[in-house]
Amino acid sequence: MTSFTEGSYPPAVKAELERQRLVQAVKDWSLAHGLVVRPPATVAPDDLDEILSMNAPVTLFPSPFPRRCFEEAKAVQTTYNELYARISQDDGFLGKIVQEVAGGDEFIAQLWDVHLRVKQEGYVQNLALGLFRSDYMVHQDGDDLQIKQVEFNTIASSFGGLSAQTSLLHKHLSQTSYPLLRDAGARAALDLPPNESTRGLAAGLKAAADAYGPSELGHRTCVVFLVQGGERNVFDQRHLEYELVRQTAGAVPVFRVPFAEILARTSIAAGSAKRQLLYHLPSGGDGDGDGDGEGLVFEAAVVYLRAGYGPSDYPDAAAWEARFQIERSAAIACPSVLTQLAGMKKVQQVLATPETSSSSSANNNSNTPPYSTALRRFIHDDASLAGLWRTFANIFPMDASTAAGREARRLATDATACQGYVLKPQREGGGNNTYRGAIPGYLATVPEEHWGSYILMELITPPPLSNTILRGGKLEQGGVICELGVYGTCLWDQSSMAGAILHSEESGYLLRTKGDQSEEGGVAAGFGCMDSCSLV
Ligand code: ADP
Ligand code: MG
Repeated sequence: MTSFTEGSYPPAVKAELERQRLVQAVKDWSLAHGLVVRPPATVAPDDLDEILSMNAPVTLFPSPFPRRCFEEAKAVQTTYNELYARISQDDGFLGKIVQEVAGGDEFIAQLWDVHLRVKQEGYVQNLALGLFRSDYMVHQDGDDLQIKQVEFNTIASSFGGLSAQTSLLHKHLSQTSYPLLRDAGARAALDLPPNESTRGLAAGLKAAADAYGPSELGHRTCVVFLVQGGERNVFDQRHLEYELVRQTAGAVPVFRVPFAEILARTSIAAGSAKRQLLYHLPSGGDGDGDGDGEGLVFEAAVVYLRAGYGPSDYPDAAAWEARFQIERSAAIACPSVLTQLAGMKKVQQVLATPETSSSSSANNNSNTPPYSTALRRFIHDDASLAGLWRTFANIFPMDASTAAGREARRLATDATACQGYVLKPQREGGGNNTYRGAIPGYLATVPEEHWGSYILMELITPPPLSNTILRGGKLEQGGVICELGVYGTCLWDQSSMAGAILHSEESGYLLRTKGDQSEEGGVAAGFGCMDSCSLV
């Protein structure tokens, strides 16, 4: 197979003047429409940080993406919503998995501890909200192209705000700049699917705020965004905030709270068994004009975490107390601790590792794939099982107690076999994985009794593609790898298994593209860039 794009698209745009004109169009549109990030400290000194933004790294052209794979990933999203809602409801299942990894993973152990503490006193909020993103790459197997899941994100799934803008940027360029380029490939008719990520994610937040209902304490309700200090990807989050304000006609204000300031800016309502979470607007004195010296107080209906997914947000015991305060409060957490834990890569592995033939003999008729026990526990109808199963790549446990785990240990420590794999710990946010030939050496530094807290995943090998990336004002042209993310929003009742889902939507997509020499693809981490799909 040569290339599924037939070679002429996207063009390299070699003529200097054409290239400059296109780059100018991208820069100006991006700045005018908030397709931007804060500049890194190396570009702008600290005191200018608050008044400067720069265009987010982006491809000059929407990358070709196989339509069938795109549609399959979108179609399976509400099934994924349901799957992860059910996993979150099952603390017995999650507890067992936590036990398997917690020995080698203090962070997971501490998260679980927050859940146990709240469980002991009793949860006061049964509703849970997920703003999910399921990430995929296209796997090329001969002439066959399959959509395969890289990971499922249950916390701080980012770029929904910027990705809708990226789709609009490429649409705009297709109506203005591309037709003026001399390269015939640039003038091809493009099929650019609409992208509702901003609207969809904000609608999820609104569904939760509506379900929370009015304050019984007589406050205005609000949504709190928990964010990291020094966040550069702030406009991505602002797009969601502005859209939520638009959808609620201003009835539900949004407040951004740095994770480190949770205990200073929020409190649990005194003397109320319902443990409402109050947000105290800093006013520098008498904020509400009634002369009592107190600032305005709001009741948080929803707490949306864009922080708290990794150990660096928990430098001390107070940070864990802060997370505990959110978890035990009446605010609908997005995500709750259980939902965050459902996103462990170990969960993905347990869902994807096939039933061994000996233990599945009861349902071993030749037409039924060897679905895992875990998948069968949560999903019961054949079409949903088959739809999810098709998207799973091969993933192995790394424990010594199962045949699959022993096979993985052999693969991971063999200098040749390891070339086809990536080793992952239970972490989010990029930069944590070990690839190919580096795996045996890395494992040699980890005590063997902790290997079980990792998973070993077969590398997905996408078809060759090229594109041009504009990053920090400079162009990089060459081979690229694309990763599709499909957003899902889901609001459910933790306490009842049947009919528990109040809202479930496939909520738009993200395409992230990286140079094919880079293993990691995070945009925020500086490796990847924003892109959109041109369906082929
Ligand atoms: P994180 O939680 O840090 O985002 P991921 O599982 O998404 O971890 O891995 C980070 C990046 O590594 C992905 O965006 C992708 O570019 C690459 N990657 C991860 N798993 C695979 C895989 N099985 N095949 C190819 N690339 C992968
Ligand atoms: Mg990822």
